[in-house]
Amino acid sequence: MKITDHIKNANGKTLFSFEIVPPQKGVGIADLYKNIDPLMEFKPPFIDVTTSREEYIFLERGNGLMERKITRMRPGTLGICSAIQNKYNVDTVPHVLCGGFTKEETEYLLVDCMYLGINNIVALRGDAMKGEKYFEPTKGGHKYASDLVKQIQDLGTGKYLHEEILSEENNSFCIGVAGYPEKHIEAPSMNYDLQMLKKKVEAGADYIVTQMFFDNQKFFEFVKQAREIGIDVPIIPGIKPIATKTHLQMLPQVFKIDLPEALINEVLKCKTNNDVREVGIEWAINQSKELLDFGIPVLHFYSMGKSDNILKIGREVF
Ligand code: FAD
Repeated sequence: MKITDHIKNANGKTLFSFEIVPPQKGVGIADLYKNIDPLMEFKPPFIDVTTSREEYIFLERGNGLMERKITRMRPGTLGICSAIQNKYNVDTVPHVLCGGFTKEETEYLLVDCMYLGINNIVALRGDAMKGEKYFEPTKGGHKYASDLVKQIQDLGTGKYLHEEILSEENNSFCIGVAGYPEKHIEAPSMNYDLQMLKKKVEAGADYIVTQMFFDNQKFFEFVKQAREIGIDVPIIPGIKPIATKTHLQMLPQVFKIDLPEALINEVLKCKTNNDVREVGIEWAINQSKELLDFGIPVLHFYSMGKSDNILKIGREVF
């Protein structure tokens, strides 16, 4: 079922969902299941599965020579989506990237989604490749997420890249896109970024999922500004509980977000990682309760592997 239909059917009740990351190549799926199992208590209507960009690795070839190869460290997004759908009977949402894929490869991936009964896609540009400063579009691929949204939208109406195929079947996808309550790092201003977000909605996006944030006021302001410029699709906040002291540096560096002073101070006072986890849980519970009062359609958690903290938060909030 489409995410937008799940939201409609919930009649104003906030739904619970979460995002998982495929395991590193060579690691089985059992650990992933162990972390998903407890969260099924909250009856998530959908689970997102991220996609990782390709990266360069260097192999020693003797005599000091290195050979550069390209690889994906966490492949298997679509396989995991299908496995989860079968095991738990929930919808899964693969993240589809511009970076690293030609338009043709994307088309084949979308066709696979149709056969697998996957009705929802999150369309993203992706970041620059590791070691590169700026995002470079892949040869034959898209430059912006809005272009990818358009391809997905077109395919749903039978407009493939090189053919138009009219069909009785409804192959349309429900398309999610990323939103940034603290602005995307490359956007020159918040207003500019919101206008680009609007472009994604105009191209066919059905809903927005936000980057993680730790200060709800930033989300409330983001929603207000989005509504003011006519973005009227559901906006789903993404929440990540802090889990280690290293997150104080890692999260701002990787996700280009700020952490509130009060949260930083609480984390710095902690003696053990377990204490930090508890601080993260407490902060996320307060954030979640306020977001539910605000009237969000879905509360979306970034699980990044371990789910024990999300279980505790869910039990306090749902
Ligand atoms: P875009 O919407 O294309 O925006 C990129 C930048 O270009 C922005 O600064 C925007 O303002 C600007 N822009 C957009 N359109 C135009 C235009 N037409 N003309 C001029 N400027 C424009 N990354 C992964 O690799 N894998 C994942 O699975 C993944 N999942 C994510 C899930 C969520 C919810 C979020 C928030 C992010 C996720 N990311 C993921 C990270 C994402 O790929 C990066 O943040 C990336 O840098 C931007 O992607 P985007 O889709 O927002 O890009």
